[in-house]
Amino acid sequence: MTQRALLDLSYEDLARVLAQLGAPGYRTAQVWRAAYVELVTDFDAITTLPSDLRARLAAGLSVAPLATVDAVSSPDGHTRKSVLEYADGETVEVVTMEYPERATVCVSSQVGCAVGCPFCATGQSGFVRDLATGEIAAQVLHAARELRGRGRRLSNVVFMGMGEPLLNADAVLKAIHRLNDPRGFGLGARAFTVSTAGVVPGIERLARDPVQVNLAVSLHAGEDGLRNALVPLNRKYPLDALLDACRHYLAATHRRITFEIVLAAGTNDRPHHARAVAERLSGILCHVNLIAANPIQGKRDLRPSPPAAVRDFAAILEAAGIPTTVRDSRGAEIAAGCGQLRARPRGREP
Ligand code: SAH
Ligand code: SF4
Repeated sequence: MTQRALLDLSYEDLARVLAQLGAPGYRTAQVWRAAYVELVTDFDAITTLPSDLRARLAAGLSVAPLATVDAVSSPDGHTRKSVLEYADGETVEVVTMEYPERATVCVSSQVGCAVGCPFCATGQSGFVRDLATGEIAAQVLHAARELRGRGRRLSNVVFMGMGEPLLNADAVLKAIHRLNDPRGFGLGARAFTVSTAGVVPGIERLARDPVQVNLAVSLHAGEDGLRNALVPLNRKYPLDALLDACRHYLAATHRRITFEIVLAAGTNDRPHHARAVAERLSGILCHVNLIAANPIQGKRDLRPSPPAAVRDFAAILEAAGIPTTVRDSRGAEIAAGCGQLRARPRGREP
């Protein structure tokens, strides 16, 4: 019999399964806690359950973790990338970053990405499929277990891995709700950040969602011509529409938006580019993160912006009253930096 992953079930689904097995109602909370708090990987570890119930659960359901098919660690050990495999053989890369005061996991929302930004390895590899709610949750539980093994607690989840989260908004929002649920994993709404290339209906949806997470928008340019080239989705949702959606989001949530700008030498890192961004963002409660583009294989024309150009860009934004941070992209040395992730199913290595 093929087993279903327990993480594919909602709380209500699990309650139904247990009822069918004749178990009393309070078992649902026990099993849910075991999966999402104790992070068990085997029903036999749920010692509060009678052994016959454990056996009957194991016959139809699985709590096994995703298979780790590859893992790399940065030289200092604080950034780690795992390649995790789903039942159909597709893989995603999950990056865990430990800082003194927090531990963040960067998760994927899709295998591949249909947006096709030219500077992004995921975009260059094309779209394969959406991830389901349980498949997203499984990445987070993987990271939580890994961190627990190192005596750390997972504190933040960022949707900045592979894929465009707001083109898979149903599953992404369900995963957030699931992981926020105090009956289980219980991670606070503020701990989540959704990064989007600018899917306007998705931003409107986040604005209405009862669980208010952080929003990051990958802006990259302040004028449509250049942004069309850097983020092809801009043709569908141009800057006026995108920034209107951001204003709606702000009016609804009062939560500061992060704008991400990946700077590539000569492409979008000149002073006039910075001025265009400053003009666009004027009056919006926001914060800008600047990241020099990480190199990706086979793209020699897109070089990282030199530090002096990044500093000048930041100075122009700051002078316009926009709080700006220059970020180092964690994980670049293990190809786990922003935009360097791509699906590499087993046996299809480059
Ligand atoms: N699709 C979403 C989230 C995944 S990409 C989005 O685009 O926002 C996460 C972040 O990595 C985005 O801000 C993206 O612009 C950035 N990124 C992509 N390629 C990069 C590269 N080569 N160097 C640095 N950052 C990159
Ligand atoms: Fe997709 Fe984001 Fe990469 Fe663009 S930057 S191709 S939207 S994952």
